[in-house]
Amino acid sequence: MHVPKRIVILGSGFGGVYTALGLEQKRDGTPAMRVTLVSRNNYFLMTPLLFEAGSGVLEPRHAVNPLRPLFRNTRFIEAEVTGIDFGCKVVTVTPADSESYIIRYDHLVLALGGVTATDLIPGSDNALTFKTLADAIFLRNHVIQCFERADVERNPQRKAALLTIVIVGGGLVAVELAGELREFTSNLAKLYPRVNAHDVRLEMLEARPHIAPEFDDELRDYAARTLSRRGVRIRTETRVNRIEEGRVRLPEGEVIESETIVLATGVVPNPLVASLPLEKDKKGRALTDPTLRCRGRKDIWALGDCASIPDPDGKPYPPLAQHALREAHVLAENLIRTMRGHGLLPFVYENKGTLAALGHFKGIGKVKNFRIKGFLAWWVWRSYYLFQMPRWDRRLRVLIDWSVSLFFKNDIVQLDLFGAEHPRLRRQARGAQEECARGPDGRPRDESAEDGRAASAPRELVAHQEDGRGSAAVSPAPAEHVSH
Ligand SMILES: Cc1cc2nc3c(=O)[nH]c(=O)nc-3n(C[C@H](O)[C@H](O)[C@H](O)COP(=O)(O)OP(=O)(O)OC[C@H]3O[C@@H](n4cnc5c(N)ncnc54)[C@H](O)[C@@H]3O)c2cc1C
Repeated sequence: MHVPKRIVILGSGFGGVYTALGLEQKRDGTPAMRVTLVSRNNYFLMTPLLFEAGSGVLEPRHAVNPLRPLFRNTRFIEAEVTGIDFGCKVVTVTPADSESYIIRYDHLVLALGGVTATDLIPGSDNALTFKTLADAIFLRNHVIQCFERADVERNPQRKAALLTIVIVGGGLVAVELAGELREFTSNLAKLYPRVNAHDVRLEMLEARPHIAPEFDDELRDYAARTLSRRGVRIRTETRVNRIEEGRVRLPEGEVIESETIVLATGVVPNPLVASLPLEKDKKGRALTDPTLRCRGRKDIWALGDCASIPDPDGKPYPPLAQHALREAHVLAENLIRTMRGHGLLPFVYENKGTLAALGHFKGIGKVKNFRIKGFLAWWVWRSYYLFQMPRWDRRLRVLIDWSVSLFFKNDIVQLDLFGAEHPRLRRQARGAQEECARGPDGRPRDESAEDGRAASAPRELVAHQEDGRGSAAVSPAPAEHVSH
């Protein structure tokens, strides 16, 4: 009897999902195999749509695709991968609120992606990241919260910090994020009577001489001009010294006070992959041969952002979705070929082009040898990613969101996912209580007093109103303090 081969795929990003889909399509006539996909999320995230999910143009759920309806013959397990043992050929997984257990494999596919690089700048933990759906939802909530606080903040320095957004980095993610955030904050400002759109400051700090290094001079100049015209201050050759809570320290002692600091400094491989006993490149990515097999291992394969895959000149392919997706097709084919005892195919791919949206109907793109910019690039960008999204039901939802956004402004409802439990929110709430509850003289502020001075009511009366019972312990304020 033929014992089915156990193929275990780790990660449900472009690499993992398309490997599983490829195996489903190609498995006919192949000796029996059992495919298991393990990931911490039960959905596939379309990362290029994350910017719009973060600004309310797209309903966040529409930037992702549920995994289970995608597969017929693949077993999906939602769990955190917590260990891999090459010797025993087992993966340890830990489902949420459950005990760990092991899954045995004959072939293991590493598609665990990367994480935002936090070791380049000291204090990076004080910044937000923009990599996952939770990051996008959190950032959007956070920006709206800053506007809500700015609307009632009377201290000019604190108000300026609430309305300052700093993006650290100038690559593709930073550029697209700046474009989308600019649009979002301009629309937000119109809804807050005490927030002037001119007071909203958006800074992009890039250590290299250019932003958008993925493009040539003409396109990156266009991107820089477009963003600058819309009020994004771009500083190149500016190396951030340190990030602290609420501030960014630059060389020569300059400090930017900001409540919203977003790290867009590129990705490093998943720490789990970086810790495995595999041959790795300087960045910690698993080195593979051109057939996507990890060097020196017959049963371990890797692709996507956690792998270093050589192109025909020996240089690694860039960590991009368009590559991960094509690598997945070749990897699935090679797994099938291994089981059939056939020779393996090398992965060879020529970049078809790069597109970036700059928000507000503008974009840039290089498709083959053609440069496109402005509305055309934005339209090509949208059409391309719409059709990259698996399943028509998701495409339709995205299309409807886009159509609605043509006529209505961004949705500014905060999604209260974390409640008061999120540590950052808890910290904010504490700070806000301590700092904002009282005016400069230590008394409660009077909202109706335009200059934010203390309440005109005597202190004991305010105490009565606040706790609803009255308190004999609160001493009356001196007469000169209550007559503003
Ligand atoms: C905001 C943003 C925009 C982008 N835009 C573009 C673009 O326009 N064009 C383009 O080509 N590329 C783009 N990229 C890059 C692209 O998203 C990546 O190259 C691509 O996602 C890599 O695919 P992957 O499968 O290797 O990793 P990922 O897509 O990162 O998937 C990794 C998977 O592993 C799971 N995982 C990780 N660790 C564990 C664990 N311990 N246990 C269980 N599961 C785990 C994750 O949850 C995830 O499902 C963008 C990236 C970002 C962040």
